[in-house]
Amino acid sequence: MDDVIKISGLNKWYDSFHVLKNINLRVQKGEKIVICGPSGSGKSTLIRCINYLETHQKGTINVLGTKLNNNLKNIELVRKNVGMCFQHFNLFPHLSVLDNCSLGLIWVKKIPKVRAQEIAMSYLERVKIPEQANKYPGQLSGGQQQRVAIARSLAMTPEVMLFDEPTSALDPEMVREVLDVMIELANEGMTMIVVSHEMGFAKEVADKVIFMDRGEIIEENKPKEFFENPKYDRTRIFLDQII
Ligand code: ADP
Ligand code: MG
Repeated sequence: MDDVIKISGLNKWYDSFHVLKNINLRVQKGEKIVICGPSGSGKSTLIRCINYLETHQKGTINVLGTKLNNNLKNIELVRKNVGMCFQHFNLFPHLSVLDNCSLGLIWVKKIPKVRAQEIAMSYLERVKIPEQANKYPGQLSGGQQQRVAIARSLAMTPEVMLFDEPTSALDPEMVREVLDVMIELANEGMTMIVVSHEMGFAKEVADKVIFMDRGEIIEENKPKEFFENPKYDRTRIFLDQII
């Protein structure tokens, strides 16, 4: 089977707070899923569970055939294949852009430094900022920093990319440059789960849009159906607020 991610009956609690309720989700190779929903609905928690940045208490998460549990080997294997980009980039401020992008290659993939830097450079070219390689993150715009974060993830050649609101901390004029990189990646066939309220992006690349509210998947559908004919009132109210 071509399931890259298979989540079944997932439940998670933060102490007594039931944050994810009975989540079922299958993502096939090359599929693009966009997740939207109100703040606090559990979107970040859900995608953080997929590479075990959060643990879950009930249900199963399978990534590329590996079941996520507290087995360190499994966690390592999954993280090797799952790239993640966050809202606030999470770059190392004291390292140059090139070092940020080559660090994982050197330490995790054990690639010699010179070769690692060549590889990192090729990914900086891909996100169209090779000229920024020797600067520090703080010297770059938000859009450039997010592109560095994407290059850093891609350099590890993941099978899946998870994005958690990658453009929501950016000034409006920088949103486009990041979305363009993500659209290119989508067109190249990357399997992607993207938490985003960028509805234009969702319409252009998503195979499926998922609406979450209060820890549940309320509705999922192809983008056209989802936006033009939402089935539930909660989805409609949410869409009215963001469009
Ligand atoms: P979203 O990404 O949809 O805004 P989150 O997954 O960040 O939602 O959060 C879902 C809910 O879980 C929120 O009510 C949030 O306050 C709570 N929450 C998130 N992280 C933690 C944590 N580490 N401990 C306790 N509660 C948390
Ligand atoms: Mg979030």
